[in-house]
Amino acid sequence: MTTTDADLLLTGGTVWLGPGRRTTAVAVRDGVVVALGDEAERCTAGEVVDLAGGLLLPAYSDGHCHPPQAGAERLGPDISHLESVAEIVAEVGRYAAAHPELDWILGGSYDPALAPDGSFDATWLDAVVADRPVLLRAHDYHTAWCNSRALELAGVDASTPDPAAGVIDRHPDRTPVGTLREPDAYGLVDAVAPVRTLDELTGALSLACQDQAAVGITWMQDAWVETGGHLPYLELLAQGRLIVRSNLAFLAHPGAWRDQLDVFVAQRAQVEAAGAPRLLTARSIKFFADGVIESGTAEMLDPYEDSHTHGMPVWDPEELAAAVTAIDALGFQTHIHAIGDAANRHALDAIAHAVATNPTWDRRPVITHVQLVDPVDLPRFAALDVTAAMQTFWAQRDPLMEQLTAPRLGDERTDRQYPVATLARFGTRISIASDWPVSTNDPLEALVVAATRQTAEGLPAGGWVPAERFPLEQGIAAATAGGAYQGRTESFRGTIAVGMAADLLWYDRDVTSGDPLTARAASVLGTWLDGHPTYRS
Ligand SMILES: [Zn+2]
Repeated sequence: MTTTDADLLLTGGTVWLGPGRRTTAVAVRDGVVVALGDEAERCTAGEVVDLAGGLLLPAYSDGHCHPPQAGAERLGPDISHLESVAEIVAEVGRYAAAHPELDWILGGSYDPALAPDGSFDATWLDAVVADRPVLLRAHDYHTAWCNSRALELAGVDASTPDPAAGVIDRHPDRTPVGTLREPDAYGLVDAVAPVRTLDELTGALSLACQDQAAVGITWMQDAWVETGGHLPYLELLAQGRLIVRSNLAFLAHPGAWRDQLDVFVAQRAQVEAAGAPRLLTARSIKFFADGVIESGTAEMLDPYEDSHTHGMPVWDPEELAAAVTAIDALGFQTHIHAIGDAANRHALDAIAHAVATNPTWDRRPVITHVQLVDPVDLPRFAALDVTAAMQTFWAQRDPLMEQLTAPRLGDERTDRQYPVATLARFGTRISIASDWPVSTNDPLEALVVAATRQTAEGLPAGGWVPAERFPLEQGIAAATAGGAYQGRTESFRGTIAVGMAADLLWYDRDVTSGDPLTARAASVLGTWLDGHPTYRS
């Protein structure tokens, strides 16, 4: 029997190898797992970490998030956890007074459920900042709230025509309320607002990486990269501070995608030239098939209960199919935002078109959100090998669901949302995604909601649509191995096994035993990337 030298030995707790599979220890050398269990215990190691009865997991993958935006929220007024309009207005006023040097007050993100119909009034902000423009994002990042000065600078007034794919909330006399929905509407203000500098964006991204490492994430999908948005990643990589592996998805715009193709290819080449394929890739293209139910902009097969419209498709379905087929032919992975049942159908149709048109390759398409799916379309995810990157944290009856979502859908459709267990039964590949900063970046929160379909208060008893509960260990597998497959990193991470990179996550307790609701109390004690700590509590 030989003994192996290791740099790092983690022992004294439970090591999770997959659903129902456990061992006792992991030995790591040069960033790679070299031994497990008794064999690991026999290693001589430079550093020994006593897991103290805790649980070691493969580090998580976040299948869909917006790190630069999350980091940027730290640069403006801190409003993301505030629970009333009055608190938000007060914080914006305090921040503006403390920053007289700023020409614009940019901030995010506020809870759109805090005002009726998510319609926020410019005059509420005018009360604290009248002289300078204010532009705030809602949690959904599909909606903005501005003060009167911002509307004035953007030229948005009673005479502004309604945009094709966006909504300007208006008073009965057509003057704007102050809430702008979807890019065609809030883009009017964005066009005159200042853009962040590369230094600011790089700093924001670094903060976001620290936040992701602190919840146990070592790979993430940035799902909204505009032209030039790869530059902060390249900068952070060059500085040796990109501590979360990242794959970028460039955003395709319906009117401009043909002209964007060259840009996508050039930016991907720039990222590849940085020569760190395990840390930074740019392999995906993002499409918004629709908006969100809460704003009535998700695209529905049957009309909304309240507005009696079918929502607002962002793409003509044939154009979406053409665009997906074009980027697929260029070797990009498809990543489509689809919320309504019509949008999910069109997303699947577009992927099917690419599959039928282009040569076979390992394309691994992704549809994210997957909130409402027509029963006919449920088996198509597995048939097309689509990964459903699901925000399982949203599968709960919280105030957003009760006040803004359910009334628009009606009872029957409300209870068909987030069919996680059904999709899994059809053999669908599932990954877990936060959509951070839209909601928490903590995968454990998402996994507990998936397992219970309950709010943090444990409601409703027994869970909302209990048949769709997704057991915690299946959830962990989706958040680790499932996300690794989505990100094409499964050959070296996503599971704990000999020969795999030591991307590891240490909880202070075994979250897989006992009532999943109690798992929420667990703390991350350490995260390792290639055997190097990226977070220690
Ligand atoms: Zn998103």
